[in-house]
Amino acid sequence: MTEPLIFELSVPGRKGVLLPDPDVPEAELPEDLLREDVPLPEVSQVDVVRHYTRLSQRNMAVDTTMYPLGSCTMKFNPRVNEDAARLTGFAAIHPLQDEATVQGAMHLMYELQRYLAEIAGMSAVSLQPAAGAQGELTGILMMRAYHAARGDHKRTKMLIPDSAHGTNPASSAMAGLTVVELPSDPRGNVDLEALKANLDDTVCGLMITNPNTFGMFEEHIEEVCQLVHAAGGLVYGDGANMNALLGIAKPGEIGFDVIHYNLHKTFSTPHGGGGPGSGPVAVNDKLKDFLPGPIVRARETEDGDIVYEWYTPPHSIGRMRAFHGNFGVLVRAYTYIRVHGEAGLRAVSQHAVLNANYIQARLKGTYRFPHGDRFCMHETCAQGIIAGAPSIVALDISKRLIDYGFHPPTNYFPLPKLVPEALLIEPTETESKDTLDRFCDAMLRIAEEARTQPELLKEAPHYAPMRRLDEVKAARELVLCCVIRE
Ligand SMILES: *Cc1c(COP(=O)(O)O)cnc(C)c1O
Repeated sequence: MTEPLIFELSVPGRKGVLLPDPDVPEAELPEDLLREDVPLPEVSQVDVVRHYTRLSQRNMAVDTTMYPLGSCTMKFNPRVNEDAARLTGFAAIHPLQDEATVQGAMHLMYELQRYLAEIAGMSAVSLQPAAGAQGELTGILMMRAYHAARGDHKRTKMLIPDSAHGTNPASSAMAGLTVVELPSDPRGNVDLEALKANLDDTVCGLMITNPNTFGMFEEHIEEVCQLVHAAGGLVYGDGANMNALLGIAKPGEIGFDVIHYNLHKTFSTPHGGGGPGSGPVAVNDKLKDFLPGPIVRARETEDGDIVYEWYTPPHSIGRMRAFHGNFGVLVRAYTYIRVHGEAGLRAVSQHAVLNANYIQARLKGTYRFPHGDRFCMHETCAQGIIAGAPSIVALDISKRLIDYGFHPPTNYFPLPKLVPEALLIEPTETESKDTLDRFCDAMLRIAEEARTQPELLKEAPHYAPMRRLDEVKAARELVLCCVIRE
């Protein structure tokens, strides 16, 4: 069934709103601003509401179903965050307003900087970066600036484990560094011997995700950091997986020099469909003078009042973004942190880890888990390989899950050369045991179907508004505007 375009619902003369009589004199519009050739649909209000509500329901969303998309932390977005972000004092201010008129917003940013520094065990934070990947670029540019400030210009290599997110090598290359890939060992940790073999005075640093994209905590992470430091390098932590660590482990204490957060993942602000995100960076004393500005600092006046002011650190790498970051996202993340408090955030991570391990335990006998002999962190990496169903691949299992009402896990990441047929499952802490059980039941039934009726999987999804899409064609021949069918 294809949905009609809004234009196809158009009936001449039909109206969606009743405009009040004008209370100002009517005036002629300038001729040259009026165009007859821009058709607008003439539709009733009820048609518009139903049309867009129907369209909105043709996608899977965290508000309609469990969305275990590994590495993306698709947790429920509490509505209190939205209430806070919509307060007029936050929503209706302008970034060019005078400092004195936006003290409340600056206070919030100051507090958020402090919370994020505390959670990471770091000394300073910049809220500028607009997403995780931009946080990465920011961190790497700071690492480069740090070496350059010491007159150490040889350091042009970034070591990155093969279990890294694809943005890590991309950001390093963008910052002008040469990427050296480090293999993983059989337990899913970075291979220590390979690390040692690559450490020399040309290493800018190591960029590592912990927990890594197998969902495993790096067992030798402290030693890894020490080795890199001993060679004069810095350690970048991709903090997109902080959902496993809140209140439990601090990257700054482990030995990281800089991390980025994904506020839109860990701190529950809505994401997907391209934004808006927020990727603040937290750094230790080595890097704090290089942070992008402006950041907010507090100053005590002679009368003992606290005023907030913009501040750019002395050796700042400059701005990473216009104005002050995605402020609405910052308000949501701040609200989330305040609502949970210290104990609440720790509980978030404990439940996220428990939920992922529950799924791993229930599916282990049926699906393969490359590191199933270890406990996972907040996500678990399964393989879409089912004994007795040789034709079935991860994609078939994911497409069949849609028929059962679940968004699929992340497919083919980690990369096939590391984990063939990867299905990276991240339930998040916001799913109840009942929902986890329904998901596991569906996965187990799909495995049974794979053996007995493989065509059911091959032709899935059967009940979705769209069947299998040609994703390559969709990406190559992107159509972003509405084409009116004659
Ligand atoms: C999501 C993610 C990123 C990139 O973050 P964006 O906000 O999408 O730019 C980087 N690393 C890891 C491990 C991630 O999961």
